[in-house]
Order: sequence, then C-alpha cells, then structure tokens
Amino acid sequence: MTVIGVLALQGDVREHQRALQEAGVDAPAVRRPAEVAHVDGLVIPGGESTTIDKLITAFGLREPLRQRLAGGMPVYGSCAGMILLASTILDGRPDQEPLATIEMTVRRNAFGRQVDSFEADLAVAGIAGAPMRAVFIRAPWVESVGQDVRVLATVTGPDGATHPVAVRQGNALATSFHPEVTGDHRVHALFADMVRSAQTGAPS
Ligand code: GLN
Repeated sequence: MTVIGVLALQGDVREHQRALQEAGVDAPAVRRPAEVAHVDGLVIPGGESTTIDKLITAFGLREPLRQRLAGGMPVYGSCAGMILLASTILDGRPDQEPLATIEMTVRRNAFGRQVDSFEADLAVAGIAGAPMRAVFIRAPWVESVGQDVRVLATVTGPDGATHPVAVRQGNALATSFHPEVTGDHRVHALFADMVRSAQTGAPS
C-alpha cells in the first residue's frame, strides 16, 4: 500500500491522517529521522511554521527531509506547511529556514490576523467537480512564483489583488488553505495520485 507520512511535530496531524486514509493510503505519523526513509510521500500540516521549523531542527529531521525532497519525494504542505516549502518567506522570523522545495515567495499571515480567517469556494485546477470549500486560518498567500511553478487556485485578498493560494511544482503541492477540516478530501486524493504516479514513474 502507498504510504504517505504526516510530519507530526505540531499542528493538525490527525485530520490529515484521517483525510489520507479516506483517500485510500496508509498515513503514519513521522517524527523521527528514520521514519522519513519509510514513506512514499509526506504531508506537512498547518500549525505554526516558526514552531515546526524549530522542531525540524530539534528532532534532527532537517537533513533527512532535505535529502528525500532533493530526491523528488512527493510532498504536500498546507498553510504552515506551504510556508515551510517556500524558497523565500516574507514576514517570517529572521531565523526561519524554509525547505526551499517550491520556487516561490510566500507572505505569512497575509490575509490578516486570526479574526480575519475566512472561507471561500474555490475552483482548483486538476480537481474536478464542484468548487472546493476552502478554509483559511491565518493563512499565507503566494507573492510570486518561479517559472516552473503552476498556480492552481487564486483568491482576491483584502488589498483587492488576486493571489495564488494553491501551487504545484513537480511532485510538490502546497495550499494556503486547510482541506483536511472540511470532509472534502479531493486535495488529498490528488496528492495520493501524485505519490502513486511517482512510484510507478508515470506522469501525473
Ligand atoms: N500563520 C501560521 C504560520 O505562520 C500558519 C497558520 C496555519 O497553518 N493555519 O505558520
């Protein structure tokens, strides 16, 4: 069975595990360096990116993660997870060290504070059917992307401008929103397909 680990340092780990299981894959928690080697793909959940960043170092996970990601392991980051996958973070802590898996600049807490959290119905490229209910909780937006990054969904921010909130580069997927909390598991199913394709070498 395909195994998609959920990085379990902080954040809403259980919700991702449940969503992945409903998408038909095994979804163990990943906390130790050795566990990084045993997954076919990885989800980095939402939570607090500065905390997860510190814990990645404290748990000795930075190098194993870096190596697997450089080797093309599929990864999906939601919210704080999106921030961690970026190449550049705006409004981050100075010591925050992104994994630089997706060539993009993200702005932390871009939509405002906790009270400015919101929901929107989004059309996401690659996801068929009705628009997705997307939940944004102190979410980042993507400020700019490199040429190999595909923007899958956008929303209009409080500044009146349109901002990417779902992106993909190769085997790496990221969303500003939290699909694990709505019961609509189409993003997890898309990611599970990406992981299966990477296993068989088929394009997805
Ligand atoms: N604002 C948080 C951060 O900077 C992300 C919020 C979330 O993951 N819901 O990490």
